Amino acid sequence: MSQELSDTPLYIDGEWHAPANDDSIPVSDPTTGTEVDSVPSATTDDVRRATEAARAAQPEWERRPAKERGDLIREIADLLEDHAEPLAETLVTEQGKTYSVAEYEIRAAADIARYMSEWDRRIEGDVVPGSEPRQSINLLRKPYGVVAGIIPWNFPISVFVRKFAPALVTGNTTVLKPSELTPLTTLELVDIVDREVDLPPGVLNVVTGGGAVGAGLVSDSEVDYVTMTGNVETGKAIMRNAADDLTRVSLELGGKAPAIVCADADVELAVENIVASRTINAGQACTCVERVYVHSDVRDEFQSQFVEAMDALEIGDPRDDPDMGPQVSAGELEKTQEAIRGAIEQGATVLTGGESVAEPPTSGGHWVEPTVLGDVNQEMDVVSEEVFGPVAPVVEVDSVDQAVAYANDSRYGLSSYVFTESYRDAMQIAEDLDFGETFINGSGGAQQGHHIGWNESGLGGEDGKHGALKYTQIKSVYHNFQ
Ligand code: NAD
Repeated sequence: MSQELSDTPLYIDGEWHAPANDDSIPVSDPTTGTEVDSVPSATTDDVRRATEAARAAQPEWERRPAKERGDLIREIADLLEDHAEPLAETLVTEQGKTYSVAEYEIRAAADIARYMSEWDRRIEGDVVPGSEPRQSINLLRKPYGVVAGIIPWNFPISVFVRKFAPALVTGNTTVLKPSELTPLTTLELVDIVDREVDLPPGVLNVVTGGGAVGAGLVSDSEVDYVTMTGNVETGKAIMRNAADDLTRVSLELGGKAPAIVCADADVELAVENIVASRTINAGQACTCVERVYVHSDVRDEFQSQFVEAMDALEIGDPRDDPDMGPQVSAGELEKTQEAIRGAIEQGATVLTGGESVAEPPTSGGHWVEPTVLGDVNQEMDVVSEEVFGPVAPVVEVDSVDQAVAYANDSRYGLSSYVFTESYRDAMQIAEDLDFGETFINGSGGAQQGHHIGWNESGLGGEDGKHGALKYTQIKSVYHNFQ
């Protein structure tokens, strides 16, 4: 990112602005712990200017033929692909994910933009007969107006695009706030979009800052709809805040994904998927497998293969593209270490990894090793609370019923996984799991699916038809022609 850009990082009404005060937030490289840049904390006035710009731009944006809106979003998809490498480099620097995961994230963001742009000619309503002679009723899908997007640090670019692309294609305008930990790639992308795409001023606005700036954005009276991704407690605070104006909210929150490994599972397949899921982005993904329920018949076989595979993972400088990079911040590292410490105190055994790293790849980085915990039971905190790091507790179960009961014994309900060779068991378990998504013998979602948290994992959902159309509200128009 250019120096000038980091001096004027508020993107409001199609222009870069300096903030109204000098408060700045440092941005650090998780691999070294050193500060690489800083961004300002937007003031209430800055936020207000952004929401007013979005409000002013919205009617005309909505009146544009939807295909024109889609065309502009497709241009952004192309730019993400064209600039994938430099964007991925910035993403590695501020977030610490390995280079190949960073590049994958940028390309996934392009895929999201392209998929969502295709809803331009599919914003379909209904026509139903009226209750009077010669009457028909049109149920139209209209945008909400101004959408505020609040973004987390773990997948900052793909979530940023996941918010603005469906909101814009359906005729809303947007004000987005990246996480204070990872604002740089977003600003770099917006700079490219500003230079290359003829997006009308005010349609896409970006303000930087921490939780207080996010809270100010949520409570701004110009905002009609809040779409947020983050942790459960932040989601609840946003919902309380939004209640004052009855502002609609869509919350994509934390998870505690169970993986059920049945007695007849292909153990190798289960190990491969669970290792990948638990350690992608150093264990900092909402879909990560966070607890394994393995049948006693295959417990030993699974556990030895799992420990061996986790032990073999290479941690290192993410620019060198090892299997796993550092945790995003000292605070997140401390939370992961605390989870491991707490599990040990409650009786768990460390099968590989642990709280400290014998030979940290760099000094100053936030390192933790892939960790497997044995002798774990359902009552332990490490099984009930989200752990945003590569820590996998393994719980032995005697039956499918017990595994499902344990999996459902959670306040979360986002992703879940089942490994079995039995079609009937797979279908029954998938039906019985109280989770928004279940992966059978695999992992990884698709744009045309739907990513949704049940219970305290959120409300709203993203991706697919439902993720696009949630940015619309129904308006009924009665036609009388007698
Ligand atoms: P976080 O809740 O700490 O922060 C998320 C965003 O909310 C940040 O931009 C932050 O500045 C802002 N914020 C904080 N307090 C706020 C407030 N009171 N009002 C408005 N905005 C506020 O979350 P995080 O640590 O950045 O992200 C990790 C969490 O996100 C994990 O729990 C993870 O599971 C979850 N997550 C969920 C999904 C999903 O799709 N369900 C995807 C990615 C991450």
